Amino acid sequence: MNADVALKDVACAPPDEVVTRSLIQCPECGHRRDETMPEDACIYYYECTGCGKLLRPLSGDCCVFCSYGSVTCPPVQRDGNCDVC
Ligand SMILES: [Zn+2]
Repeated sequence: MNADVALKDVACAPPDEVVTRSLIQCPECGHRRDETMPEDACIYYYECTGCGKLLRPLSGDCCVFCSYGSVTCPPVQRDGNCDVC
């Protein structure tokens, strides 16, 4: 997976469109991976593909993308908060 391509795609998305792709970075090993987010759900657990660590959201965040991703999750992008979980 090419990280530069992923970032470019996100930057080119229209501002009123919900971005469903996020570059998630592991706080443990720094491994980054481009992931697709579900539009109506939150990913609460994410296993790093680099070191295998199970990531959980930081306190105050609704999902791992809000904590570790380059883009917040779709419900937060739409409403500013997450009422799904
Ligand atoms: Zn990791």
